[in-house]
Amino acid sequence: MSSRKNESGRPENAAPRFARRNFLKTSTVAAAAGASLLAAAPAAAQDRAQAPPTDTGGRGRRYVIRGGAVMSMDPKVGDFEVADVLVEGKNIAAVGRKVNAPGADVIDARGRIVMPGFVDTHHHLFETAERAFLANGLLLDDGSGSPSAFPNYGQHILQGFARVYRPQDVYINELFAGLSQLDAGVTTVLDVSQIHHSPEHTDAAIQALIDTGRRAAFGFFEGDGRAGARYPEDARRIRDRWFSSDDQLVSMVMGGELHLGREVYTRSWAIARELDVKIAAHSVGSWGMRPVFDDVAEGIGGVQVGPDNLFIHMTGMSDQTWKRFRDAGAQVSLAVPIEMVMRHGTPPILKMQELGMEPSLSSDVETTMAADPFTLMRSAMSMQRMVVNQMVLDQGEGVPPTNWPTPAKGTPELLNVRDVLRYGTIVGAEHLGLGGRTGTLTPGKQADIVLLDATALNVAPLNSVPGAVVSLMDRTNVETVIVAGEVRKWRGRLLNVDLSRLRRELEASRDHLFKAAGIRRDLFAYS
Ligand SMILES: [Zn+2]
Repeated sequence: MSSRKNESGRPENAAPRFARRNFLKTSTVAAAAGASLLAAAPAAAQDRAQAPPTDTGGRGRRYVIRGGAVMSMDPKVGDFEVADVLVEGKNIAAVGRKVNAPGADVIDARGRIVMPGFVDTHHHLFETAERAFLANGLLLDDGSGSPSAFPNYGQHILQGFARVYRPQDVYINELFAGLSQLDAGVTTVLDVSQIHHSPEHTDAAIQALIDTGRRAAFGFFEGDGRAGARYPEDARRIRDRWFSSDDQLVSMVMGGELHLGREVYTRSWAIARELDVKIAAHSVGSWGMRPVFDDVAEGIGGVQVGPDNLFIHMTGMSDQTWKRFRDAGAQVSLAVPIEMVMRHGTPPILKMQELGMEPSLSSDVETTMAADPFTLMRSAMSMQRMVVNQMVLDQGEGVPPTNWPTPAKGTPELLNVRDVLRYGTIVGAEHLGLGGRTGTLTPGKQADIVLLDATALNVAPLNSVPGAVVSLMDRTNVETVIVAGEVRKWRGRLLNVDLSRLRRELEASRDHLFKAAGIRRDLFAYS
């Protein structure tokens, strides 16, 4: 093709825009409609701007989400090309075709995909002020002198920014990150907040999770260990003050990092079990953690692994440790994009398949990657398929007639869109001990629901519901978000938040953190 430009700067062989419009105008269809196909939106589309139902999520409050393509993620409930979801109070009351709901308000879901909200099982919400600061960054300096080695996560985030957080920084960072994920359809998160320098830092994090108004597991991890820090013993106070009731959106998980040493982790695990909360821990081979995980798996680390353990990453772990963790009923969260980019090691999806385990998905850090569920699902599926597809190709000679081999017996199955949708919803809910409350559209569970716009320019025409969500959609398609029956995002806009004010507060926090950490702000450096 010619790359010569004409006077208007448009390549000569490109059709000018007016010519295209004339073509559409004179086409049979447009002529029959009597109007240009490029005219403004018809009135019917504007009707969708109506106000949301009021008092949603309140006791006895009923509304029905009508006419959407419903993907329940519960095999017993099934999928429907067109169906209704009745919400009563906080709960899903019914799912099915033509649900009879006299007197209930109606949310018109025609052209929308209705499915459970997404679950992220590992996100460091406090790091929002450093978004994209480490877009190239590795976990640690590898001595290469490259822009990936410096700045890096160990020196600049954990040893740099994290140390200068004040409680008010924790609050605004966590709130902003939470609202951003709510906007993207993530209705449940495990907040791995390693910022507990003092009880005031801890309380700020929990308050932010509550104020966000979505489901969250607050992860009580360590801080920087300064005088006044009370990890892990403060867990008892936290439990009493914040988590005395089970009937609330925010619950508790204990951070039980093994790299803190046996003296600390034996205490944190014991306290977690005394309080009956789950234990989460990072497990990264390239961080040097394989030997200590081997000891724990073998039962000589002073703690016993059980079904209340959620391990994050599990890159580079020994086969024996994997088997023992699986046999003990432990779960694993994978942060696939981060693991690939920051040199944690290859995400162990194939290992989990081999052992009959399913991972939940997690975003980890926005210093380096977006925290929306579409990025997580697509990355997991693409990464696994890259490995397996090459495995299959390598079973041939690369030239006819063996250039397209039939997979040999024992070749891992390709992940499909249903797999990653399950990882991103119900598997995540189960890993956080919330499988009885969320993760599927099941009558009796709480109503954590997203409406995704399948009429949008990047999606229409709708040919596959699971396919469209995983292959085509992004956060712009997340139109309406409901948490425990309450509408939190309505037709593209978060409700009851002053985002301009919150952004100014986050920027002020960011300015403080860079200054106090002695790190220069430069919009074009570090890349
Ligand atoms: Zn992490």
